This record gives sequence, structure tokens and C-alpha cells, in this order.
Amino acid sequence: MNKTNSISSSDFIRQIIREDLRTNKYGGRVHTRFPPEPNGYLHIGHAKSICLNFGIAKEFGGLCNLRFDDTNPTKEEAEYIESIIEDVRWLDFDWGNRLFYASDYFDKLYEYAVQLIKNGKAYIDSLTAEEIRAYRGTLTEPGKDSPYRNRSVEENLDLFERMRAGEFEDGKCVVRAKIDMAAKNLNMRDPVMYRILHSTHHRTGDKWCIYPMYDFAHGQSDSIERITHSICTLEFEDHRPLYDWFIDQLHIHHSQQIEFARLNISHTILSKRKLLQLVEEKRVISWDDPRMPTICGLRRRGYTPEAIRDFCERIGVAKTYAIVDIALLEHCIREDLNLQAPRVMAVLHPLRVVIDNYPETQVEMLDAENNPEDATMGIRKIPFSRVLYIEREDFKEEPPKKWFRLAPGKEVRLKHAYIIKCEQVIKNEQGEVIELHCTYDPETKSGLPSAERKVKGTLHWVSAAHAIKAEVRLYDYLFLQANPDEVEEGVDFKSNLNPNSLQTLTSCKIEPSLANAKPGSRYQFLRLGYFCVDTDSTDDKLIFNRTVSLYDTWAKIEKAQL
Ligand code: ATP
Ligand code: MG
Repeated sequence: MNKTNSISSSDFIRQIIREDLRTNKYGGRVHTRFPPEPNGYLHIGHAKSICLNFGIAKEFGGLCNLRFDDTNPTKEEAEYIESIIEDVRWLDFDWGNRLFYASDYFDKLYEYAVQLIKNGKAYIDSLTAEEIRAYRGTLTEPGKDSPYRNRSVEENLDLFERMRAGEFEDGKCVVRAKIDMAAKNLNMRDPVMYRILHSTHHRTGDKWCIYPMYDFAHGQSDSIERITHSICTLEFEDHRPLYDWFIDQLHIHHSQQIEFARLNISHTILSKRKLLQLVEEKRVISWDDPRMPTICGLRRRGYTPEAIRDFCERIGVAKTYAIVDIALLEHCIREDLNLQAPRVMAVLHPLRVVIDNYPETQVEMLDAENNPEDATMGIRKIPFSRVLYIEREDFKEEPPKKWFRLAPGKEVRLKHAYIIKCEQVIKNEQGEVIELHCTYDPETKSGLPSAERKVKGTLHWVSAAHAIKAEVRLYDYLFLQANPDEVEEGVDFKSNLNPNSLQTLTSCKIEPSLANAKPGSRYQFLRLGYFCVDTDSTDDKLIFNRTVSLYDTWAKIEKAQL
């Protein structure tokens, strides 16, 4: 914990803030915000930004707002707003009474635009969208002034008023900032500030038919909220001069924008637009499909807020792009669940085992520890009887060398129970093994002094008569390639989807202590991984998602680096 704390406290953003506090730049204030656009569900990349903004506010005794940048009525929906609020809460961050919307500022932004027009710093352009694009020039060629650039202030004010009044159809004209069509930075070539959209807004209804562009709304919204440090991702670095220009022209509070590299994770994508495509084209079941890198997907998969926050802290912040190995995310949830998830036994591919020398009607209730990492989690009783299930792959008729599991004539220990020996193999007409006959050694009951006799292998099992049937869903990476964005021109990123990312097992057998397991509860199935009860689970049908297997590839990577 100390190690990760010291990493985050020395990152370049925190250094800037410390310096600003030292020089009293904002009167000792630290005020950040998390500004999602409500056009999709949040993903783990957003979690990084949430942890950074809310984390910094907490660390420096400041405040962090939640603000929806809802300037585009055609792509935004109330459903997204609700999910975003739920996800930030679930990550355990608090915005107090400071939940804001850019749309709260539409009147103010309109006034700002009028002010710029009056000062000769903005004009109404009647070129079409295509013409504006053509006039814009390229990275190597300067742009050209629009023939409407020198309209008088009076004409501009009149046209702007009529735009607002709904006199013109969509696209007929726009408001542009009057900066410099030859600027090196394309964002400074008279960017559009307002466009006409006859579209109902989820909050302001039909009050407006003109809407501010994101670039005209974002910086001013920060300013209105008196944000001190406006932290965003690197793609906005080139927009900073424009945001500064607006603020200087308007003589309003100046928030300092600071950019960092966005999070990328191997074998998945972090782009709302692409994730929306997966949902709309039914490549996944929903936004909260446990394969999705969305916060709600990770939650349904069994991730904890603690593990996600831990991950965000470990990756830190930097100025250069990198792809974080998904194994690190899995490592974080393993570490967390190792401490808190009760151990239970479940068999995913059941193979029947009959203990021939065990009394037919006898049932013993055996002691099983709930978590070897934490004695305070206590013990539970599990039933042992004559007919059991073990994992099909724990038996091999012709075992290789060093096979410590079950095979004809071999012995294994059944966890929390006895040593058994395989005496006979029963097959069906197709030659498949359908049942094993074994004997048990009553002297080897776990916990008894006589149980000291050692065998190499220990298997998990459940009692057939007592086990509950369940469905178990196993997941693999959503994309085959580590970097799914790296596709050739013209190739759809979806061609790289992993066709085997979901495997559904419908006849799993679970120990009876899980009979009333509630959706969201998490367990370690011994030897199989961490599992979480799915939200679709009912009293009649238990469904488990595998959060993560037990094999920690990250620990291996870390060890190799030492
Ligand atoms: P997407 O490309 O997925 O739509 P976005 O940047 O358009 O993401 P916003 O809703 O605008 O999504 O993001 C809200 C905040 O989260 C912004 O400050 C943005 O910089 C940050 N953010 C988005 N994606 C990432 C990421 N992958 N890593 C870190 N921060 C991110
Ligand atoms: Mg965005």
C-alpha cells in the first residue's frame, strides 16, 4: 500500500498542484471535476480519470464536481446519466451537492457568445459544412477566410438572435470564433462555437434549437464552476490554446488544463463509440455483459470497487501512451478476493464417483475452513456421502508421468475429507468414462491425527445427493489481439473479436452451502478461480460468472522483472 501511495503522490499532476499551493495560485484552493459526456456507459478508462480527479481533491482537502458535458442532444440519453451516477457512487466517490450539467450554463454560454460577437471576436458564417471544411486548409496549407467573416456586429447579432428564435433550419449557419485562418494549430482556424440543431434536449427540452460545441462549452463550464485544475486526456492538448483564448477574451476565471495519457488495456477497447457498436450489433449481450470493460460489466463480472481503485493507483499517470497488460487488472482483483472471498467447492464438469465401502445411507458433516487467509471467517459444514462428483479432468485412465490426480489404482485426497483409491472405471457404449468406483480409507479423515498419511494430489468434490445444480459462465478476453485498435486500413476492429470469449456450462454441481447465494456475492471455487453470482440468478436457477481464474500471470511477469 505504501509503495503505491508513494508512486501516485509523486506524479507530475500532483507536483503541479503542490507547486500551485506553494505559490498560492488559486488562494490555496484545489477544485477538480469529472466531466463525462452522457453518450454511453463508463469504462475502466473513465475510472482512471474518476480516481485521479476525486482522489486529488480528497488528498489536497479540495472538492471534485461531477459534471455532465451534455451539449449534444442527438447522442445523449437519460439512461446514460443514471448509469454514470450509479458507477461513480459504486466506486465510492462523493460529489456532495455538486452535480452539474453543461446545459445548466446554456444561458450563460449564449451571453458569452453575444459578448464575443459584440467585441468583434465571433461571426455568423453561412458557408455549408462542406465549404467550411474545404476552407479550413490542411496541416501544411493555411485556411481561407470565409466571405462572411467580415459581417458587421449588428448583422451578426441579428442573425444570432434569429438562429436562436428558430428561423433557420439545421446547418444553415453557425457561429465561429474570429481567430486566425492561417494558424498552425487547426483548432484556432475560426472554430465553430454554435450550431443549429432542432432537437429536443433531455434537460432543456425544446427551449433551444442552437447548441454550443463541446469546445465552446467545456472550458467555460470549468470556469463557471471555478475549477482550479482541469485534468483531461492528451487529445485535448491541442485544444488548450483555444480554451485559453476564449477565457482571455471573456475575462473570466482561468482553470489550468493539464493533460495525461489515456488508459489502454490489452485485449480490450476503451472507446464508448466502439463499445456502443458491440452492444448495438449484439456482439455482446449488453453494456453490462461481464466481458465488457465497462464499470457495470466489471461489477457484474465480480470486480470490487477496491480492486479497480487499486488498479488505477498502480498504473499511475503519465504523459506518454502505453498499453497496460490486462493481467495487472486481474492481479488486483485476485489480491482483493484472496482476502475476502469464502472458499467453497464446485464441480464444473461432473464425473460420478461411488465409494463402495462407504455405508449407503450415511452422511457425515465435515468441517471446512472458509478462508485459510483469515481464520476469523470461521468454518462451515459440508456433507460427505457415498456418491460424489469430482472434476472430469481430474481423472485420466492413462495418466502421464507425474500425474498426481486420480487414475486407476491411484490414491488422492478429497479436500476436507478422506483419501480415496480408484478401483474400477465404468464406461458407456461409446467408450466414455461415466463413473468411477473407489474405496476410502476411514483412517485418513481430515483433522484426525491419523490423517497424516500423505498423498500428492488433493481434489475438490461435492456430494451428489446434496449438490445444487448451477450454470457457470467462463470468460476469455474479448479480443484475440493484444491491441485490437491495431488493424489494417479498411479492416473492421470487430473482426478481431474472440469467438470463444464466453463458455456456458449448464450442469455444474455446487456445494449446498450456496443454496441461498445472493446476486453479487463472491466466492473462490477451490482450484477453479473466483466466481460471482450473476444478476440474472434466481431462487430456482443459480448462475455464476467466473471473475478470474487462480493462475496469476501478472505475479509471474513481475517476478521475471525482478
Ligand atoms: P470515449 O472515447 O470512450 O468516448 P471520452 O473521452 O469521449 O471517452 P468522456 O465522457 O468525454 O469520454 O470522458 C470523461 C472524462 O474521462 C474525460 O476527462 C476523459 O478525458 C476521461 N477519459 C475517457 N477515456 C479515458 C481513458 N481511456 N483513460 C483515462 N481517462 C479517460
Ligand atoms: Mg469525449
